[in-house]
Amino acid sequence: MFKLRLVMLLFLAFNVAKIRNYPMENVGVNSLYPAPQIVPGRPLIVKNYPAVENYQSDLYEVYAEPYSYDVRPLTAIALVQSEGEGSISGEVFFLQRHPPAGPVYVRANITGLSEGRHGVHIHQAGDLREGCVKLGPHFNPFLLQHGGPSDHIRHVGDMGNIEADSDGKAEFNYVDPLMSLSGGPRGIVGRAVVVTENPDDLGRGGTANSLNTGDSGKPLACGIIAYVN
Ligand SMILES: [Zn+2]
Repeated sequence: MFKLRLVMLLFLAFNVAKIRNYPMENVGVNSLYPAPQIVPGRPLIVKNYPAVENYQSDLYEVYAEPYSYDVRPLTAIALVQSEGEGSISGEVFFLQRHPPAGPVYVRANITGLSEGRHGVHIHQAGDLREGCVKLGPHFNPFLLQHGGPSDHIRHVGDMGNIEADSDGKAEFNYVDPLMSLSGGPRGIVGRAVVVTENPDDLGRGGTANSLNTGDSGKPLACGIIAYVN
């Protein structure tokens, strides 16, 4: 079903105006269509993305409810290690109780950091052959600007900041509404978590880099996100 959803997402991104009786101008923010019945009892849901008032987007998510695929919880982990000789290490744990669209619970424990805030991001690639530097940009399947984890307009990979204490330890807990562990356009498994030298300004720095990377400096440590079990 998720595959169907993905196909329909792509289809709708280019053909939304062709849906019979539902012209483009009727699509509002997070609109819920009365829906053509593809299968009796399974309404077709059409949502504008991102769901932000006064934001013009041509991207729509389309799916039929209820889901009929396996919705058992998924878990994944990234073992984060220093770039080069550094002493940073830790774990970033991900849990999605209701894949593919439910929120992802993120819990991180990292040690060996310099005191203060450091950016944390998921980058597009998980290829560590050249350490933490060739992992592509922040994971950004919807081609939006950089932001913070609670912003509507953000990269899916924008996890914000962790704050290390005077012993270099940082703990981090939050719930992310965008990323998914089940593959598809928001899937993060197989990509990399990167901890940066500087704090992430969450796109609010006013500099050229702020809306790309949060001006968070070079990577200090990274790890590939992989399934648990
Ligand atoms: Zn970003």
